[in-house]
Amino acid sequence: MGREAARAEIARLRAEIARHDLLYYRDAAPELEDEAYDGLVRRLRELEASHPDLVTPGTPTQTVGGEPDSRFPGAAHSRPMISLQNSYDPAEVAAFDARVRRELGVESVTYTIEPKIDGVAVALRYAEGEFVLGLTRGDGRTGDVVTANLGTLPDVPSRLPDQWRRVLPGAREFEVRGEVFLTLERFHALNREREAAGLALLANPRNAAAGTLKTLDPAIVRGRRLSLRCYQLFPLDAAEEPPTHAAEIAAIRRLGLPVPEWFAVVSDAGQLGGRLSELQALRETLPYQIDGAVIKVDDRRWQAALGETAKAPRWGLAYKYAAETAQTRLRDVVSQVGRTGVITPVAVLEPVTLAGSTVSRATLHNWEEVERKDLRIGDLVIVAKGGDVIPKVVGPLPERRVGSERAPRRPKVCPVCGTGAVRRDGEIAVRCPNHRCPAVAAGRLRHFAGRDACDIAGLGERWVELFLEHGLIKEPADLFRLDRDDVAALPGWGAKSADNLLAALARAKQRPWAARIFALGIPGVGAATAGVLAARFSSIAALRAATADQLQALPDIGEIVAREITEFFVTPEGGRLVDDLARVGFWQATEAAPPTPPAESAVLAGRTYVLTGTLLQSTRAEAKKALEARGAKVTSSVSRRTSAVIVGADPGSKLEEARRLGVPILDEDGLQRLLRGETEDDGARS
Ligand code: NAD
Repeated sequence: MGREAARAEIARLRAEIARHDLLYYRDAAPELEDEAYDGLVRRLRELEASHPDLVTPGTPTQTVGGEPDSRFPGAAHSRPMISLQNSYDPAEVAAFDARVRRELGVESVTYTIEPKIDGVAVALRYAEGEFVLGLTRGDGRTGDVVTANLGTLPDVPSRLPDQWRRVLPGAREFEVRGEVFLTLERFHALNREREAAGLALLANPRNAAAGTLKTLDPAIVRGRRLSLRCYQLFPLDAAEEPPTHAAEIAAIRRLGLPVPEWFAVVSDAGQLGGRLSELQALRETLPYQIDGAVIKVDDRRWQAALGETAKAPRWGLAYKYAAETAQTRLRDVVSQVGRTGVITPVAVLEPVTLAGSTVSRATLHNWEEVERKDLRIGDLVIVAKGGDVIPKVVGPLPERRVGSERAPRRPKVCPVCGTGAVRRDGEIAVRCPNHRCPAVAAGRLRHFAGRDACDIAGLGERWVELFLEHGLIKEPADLFRLDRDDVAALPGWGAKSADNLLAALARAKQRPWAARIFALGIPGVGAATAGVLAARFSSIAALRAATADQLQALPDIGEIVAREITEFFVTPEGGRLVDDLARVGFWQATEAAPPTPPAESAVLAGRTYVLTGTLLQSTRAEAKKALEARGAKVTSSVSRRTSAVIVGADPGSKLEEARRLGVPILDEDGLQRLLRGETEDDGARS
């Protein structure tokens, strides 16, 4: 290839890789399979190797992907946090061993193998046994400070058991690094919840973990229950490091920190292949998703001798599993109508075996994707199940077309009720706007009865259909008017199951306040958001009267969800649903009582505070609780009567508002002094 052609292709590849990096690292929403992305990087590396003068410092072959997130404060890494060389080809494992031995000038090398958990790399700093700082990898030099978020993980002790001093003798401060992830169980639970809230599903656990770690409210991170496994440990002072990687893993375990479930030491490189296959076979039994194995030189002096490039250590290799793919025929594209009316295209496939299970349907997400991929009914297509747990259609094989394939059409009407389909401004989704559409009604009832909502045992999916078919119910409130004898007379039912259902319905009215808010099925309001609403509004009337501004002031509620909530209550359907439920006594159970602080400690009684931004020493919820325990009120909007605004990192518009109104401003230290009773509000006025 000529120099000019190479220059043009290098520029194109760099732009393409930069776009995929943003989608992957910033948005946690990749468009490509990892293997395809790695193919782009590999091609760039080859071109740069034959045209070394075209290599620039910022090229993706020399830098670690990801960039600082402006919503979090940044902090420098104690040592660069770099990536790993990777390979999908077993032959390259032997080449790696040959290279390592040649560079070290030795006959044989002992390696370790551990699972490559598909999560997000983090660094945790402990000083005198206390967890003091948590960072993401960021751009490898500077990470985002996510201490409060990491502090919510059950796997991250805030204080280590005293024996930590014996693990790294002489060290006062050390760092451990590892992978934060969601277990498959948590991932599926989260997606069930998102589905119930009418939110787009998270494609895979890695994206879900990355998104969670960058959530601004630690209370929400806590609810997601992220996990951690560690694989690196080093003192930040002159103390000695463990001599081998195996000793390093053992030391991490003795510190009381979790390490990966599987670990192998291989003294003969000839056995690497066998042990890699062993781990691959165990893959399905692990509680988390792995995307490969990491092979490392065990001896840390040898690691140091081999050194690292700007991007990856020379002593390690990620052996990655290719996404499993299969070819099959696309028989049809059908439309599925969800409870919010969104009409989703679904691929109907000739059944094919993929990663051990039979796949005959795959979601196509939205019609734009169908068109972008140029899928046609009758096409031979590639389906894949890799990092993604849900099978997906990668794309068609256009060269195999015979001419009779036809493009599926976007639905103009709802396939269930025939009402004209609509698209809302700024939305990709096509919707059925008919609130009485049987598919929408069934979806709404299933959601209402679901586990995280009213938890009406016995009212499973197919029973909802049966009740609807027999005209016993139309809307959720109808459930509470069911007649025992009508239910008992249904096919497959009897007196006993009817009694059980009525008992479950009676219990539904006593469900926690948050679960009953969730049951309404407000678009965008998942179980976690329902919890936030329940803590802030103590009755359905108060929630109904909430303004978009009040809602947006709450953690994790943005403009779109705030609008969905206010719109929900003003639409005739939403209003009727709430009123109908009121008539059957659904809202009667005691709702959240506002916390009452003990009188004797009410040193801040009569004062009102507003919290904004990310607090690093505690969660916002904890700070609120601490203030309320001293008799203060914590509100979400700033007025002249506000005693002070407490400002964390990356504060919102409330800081501006406080400045405009001349309200005192306190930083986190100021808050701590206030809580200790050492200062007045205006201790840190700026
Ligand atoms: P990587 O994920 O391939 O490997 C490095 C990472 O592995 C480390 O940072 C660490 O987080 C993790 N890891 C897990 N277990 C480990 C262990 N036991 N020891 C050490 N590290 C361990 O590299 P990366 O730099 O994080 O990301 C690059 C990869 O991300 C690429 O290979 C690519 O597949 C993927 N990517 C994909 C897209 C896309 O569009 N699909 C875009 C950008 C990046």
